[in-house]
Amino acid sequence: MDTAERSRRHAEATGPTDRLAEQDVVGVAITWVDHSGVTRVKTVPTAGLPRAAAEGVGTSPVFDAFLLDDTIVRGRHAGGPSGDLRLHPDLDRLTVLAGQPGWAWAPGDRHAQDGTPHPQDERGFARAVVARLAEHGYRARAGFEVEWVVGLAGTDDFRPATTAPAYGHARLADLSDYGADLLAALARQDVEVLQFHPEYAPGQFELSTAPEDPVHAADTSVLVRATVRAITLRHGLRASFSPKVVPDGVGNGGHLHLSLWRDGRTLMAGGAGPCGLTDEAEAFAAGVLDRIHALSAIGSPSVASYLRLVPSHWAGAFAAWGPENREAALRLVAGRSLEVKSYDLSANPYLAVAATLVAGLAGIAEGARLPAPRVDNPGDAPRLPTSLEEAVRAFEADDALREAFGAAFAETIADVRRGEIARFADSSPEEVTAVTRWRH
Ligand code: GLU
Ligand code: MG
Repeated sequence: MDTAERSRRHAEATGPTDRLAEQDVVGVAITWVDHSGVTRVKTVPTAGLPRAAAEGVGTSPVFDAFLLDDTIVRGRHAGGPSGDLRLHPDLDRLTVLAGQPGWAWAPGDRHAQDGTPHPQDERGFARAVVARLAEHGYRARAGFEVEWVVGLAGTDDFRPATTAPAYGHARLADLSDYGADLLAALARQDVEVLQFHPEYAPGQFELSTAPEDPVHAADTSVLVRATVRAITLRHGLRASFSPKVVPDGVGNGGHLHLSLWRDGRTLMAGGAGPCGLTDEAEAFAAGVLDRIHALSAIGSPSVASYLRLVPSHWAGAFAAWGPENREAALRLVAGRSLEVKSYDLSANPYLAVAATLVAGLAGIAEGARLPAPRVDNPGDAPRLPTSLEEAVRAFEADDALREAFGAAFAETIADVRRGEIARFADSSPEEVTAVTRWRH
């Protein structure tokens, strides 16, 4: 990033900054999501936004070695005390936060001090993978489903804020103003909501958003969670997005929907493959299925993920695919999208979408084909990894993912995962869920 580029960024930020000031916004939160899936933040007063856009805001690279409980691992490539990065807000996504009066938000990109992208910047990596897809003539659309439970405040335990039934209309009545405030806030933030409904587990809700560019979909996942969290707190309650809130019962998923496009047309329909998939979309889906063990280290990246990823919890615990099959890791929504059901919200959404696109692209390069679909309970299909260690080993063994991430980035992910494994080596499910409960 040269001086001319910095001046351009500064100039470009003055209009948006004036508009924020007119709306009584006093500060801008600039977020990034670390390798452990925790959203971190730096803020600047509104008047400082043009400077932040031009120069970035200082952040230590040590966050690449952070665990979900804020301990820091001493990794092979990250975790040292020195160095500095510059966090640049992406003003294309600048949003006034409806649930946090006085605040606006922008996702950040981490650069080195000389302006080159930080090689372990998660959002930059997602952008690079999307560009690689485009070089092959493809475009992807993506969307994350967000599931969470609403609990009572004043305790770190989980006590559901409503005891109304799963999918129950009564649950919506119990939290009627809450739901309305949430939808209003998202609408004011230009987030296009497809659906909002009570889910299965006690106090659980789900919200899905319209498909969009993969990097924007990851941004939206961050924004939706920030909004849910803020509105929940304003109602005197707490939201947990944890994969497994309590040791028993159904967890929170963070299912990823993807569709593949070429020349403005979807490749998910009108083909000769299963469920009308085109050859390319079938190869893409097969590439994801073939690598689902390795992808688990990215999409199901916490120790708690493996408490969720068990049969009969609709978490997609089996390495199989099927049309509308909720036990298979890959659910094909015919004509529309491929849904990776095994992912949860402890995943960094930028890494999850990027790694899945890498796997799909590798499937296309290999001419991969899907096995027979599972329409029933895929109980005899191979299980997904049953532990984070198993997932990390599969990730380390996958050439396509390692090549795309680069050795240092891939090794840092493995170091962070092993740090969390060591952190919980002697922990009961009760302790794992308690430590993970309010972090993502
Ligand atoms: N809560 C389930 C999960 O952990 C998903 C339920 C569903 O939407 O099918 O992924
Ligand atoms: Mg759901």
